[in-house]
Amino acid sequence: MENAPFEFAFADYILAPKTLYNIGGPARWALLPRTASQVEQAYDWMMAQDAPRLILGGGSNMLIQDEGFPGVVLLMTELNDMASLDYHRYSVGAGVELDTMVREIMLPNNYDVVGGLTGIPGSVGGAIYMNAGTVNGSTCQLLESVDVLKADGVKTIAMKEDLYDYRGQSFCAPGEIILSGTFQFTPAEKDQQAIYDHYKKRRIEKQPQGHCCGSVFKNPEGDHAGRLIEACGLKGTRHGGAIISSMHANFIMNDDNASSDDVLFLIDMAKRTVLETHGVVLEEEVQIFPKHNAV
Ligand SMILES: Cc1cc2nc3c(=O)[nH]c(=O)nc-3n(C[C@H](O)[C@H](O)[C@H](O)COP(=O)(O)OP(=O)(O)OC[C@H]3O[C@@H](n4cnc5c(N)ncnc54)[C@H](O)[C@@H]3O)c2cc1C
Repeated sequence: MENAPFEFAFADYILAPKTLYNIGGPARWALLPRTASQVEQAYDWMMAQDAPRLILGGGSNMLIQDEGFPGVVLLMTELNDMASLDYHRYSVGAGVELDTMVREIMLPNNYDVVGGLTGIPGSVGGAIYMNAGTVNGSTCQLLESVDVLKADGVKTIAMKEDLYDYRGQSFCAPGEIILSGTFQFTPAEKDQQAIYDHYKKRRIEKQPQGHCCGSVFKNPEGDHAGRLIEACGLKGTRHGGAIISSMHANFIMNDDNASSDDVLFLIDMAKRTVLETHGVVLEEEVQIFPKHNAV
């Protein structure tokens, strides 16, 4: 791989502090562009390298392995412009924190679906990519359109219901880049601040606090991954510095300087045990890099 020719490029950049797990070795190159045009330059250069590529938002759904990432990591957190358009529409950069969008745009205007986004860490770009949300709604349903950088340039994609589903979407392939979203909000009848306060409090009561990625597994159709793992008696299981939370079985915590292998061991154990006990295949929601083949 060539040396990255940008003032926003950093060699052998440690990734652990850029993830909420606080786990992960160095990226060969990390690029931290501050404008959409710098992202385009970075993308063109990345595409010309014979090396793996990774887009990183707030790192709240990421497990990066201790060996590090042998290619280029593009960090999107500096792209944080927000602009008010007309008729309750807003353009929001991929690097804006989701919670900032909620507090600075949705709450002051009492826009609907705050309950779906409350307490989700990470960036707007990551939330669009993952279609982050809860039973109360999700990010993509609030979008009018999204700007995605693809191999043949920036495309503005009009949002439609069939382009996203539970914790996923089909308009941005891995390695393509969400630059910004245009949100079309709707004023709500219910008090959104009260809803925000309610779900914030509930998360503190029901979810463990600390280094983690939130839910490790997607909920299988008609059930809850946490319930299945708990029914296998795995709550509180520890391996090295990682532990399956005794508060919420779908949370695997970096409790005490866990290695990525410690977390992966528990992920594999939970998958294997749930399959043997319940006949259900759990699918990871957490994004693991470099890729990990479960045992
Ligand atoms: C305590 C806790 C609670 C959580 N609760 C919830 C919840 O209730 N609901 C929920 O859905 N999630 C939840 N999560 C998971 C996580 O916060 C969301 O998935 C979040 O939207 C990820 O955003 P991020 O910016 O951190 O993305 P990252 O973790 O950085 O990346 C996640 C994926 O998105 C891709 N990506 C990120 N930014 C871009 C971009 N600009 N362009 C293209 N691809 C990109 C990455 O390549 C990666 O594949 C929780 C996590 C934690 C730690």
